[in-house]
Amino acid sequence: MTKVAAFHSTRVGEKVHHNNNKCTEGNNIEKKYWKEGTGGLPLCSHCSKLNSEGK
Ligand SMILES: [Zn+2]
Repeated sequence: MTKVAAFHSTRVGEKVHHNNNKCTEGNNIEKKYWKEGTGGLPLCSHCSKLNSEGK
């Protein structure tokens, strides 16, 4: 299980937050846009899948 503290991108148009460090989308967030917390956004479907698979 590699669930991590919620984070999201502050880039315009971002609609989800991430909480799994194996999520490629989450890992692609540029450092300047990276922000801790959900940002009030729903969880990324990829993260949700990884979490449910226990990855
Ligand atoms: Zn994600």
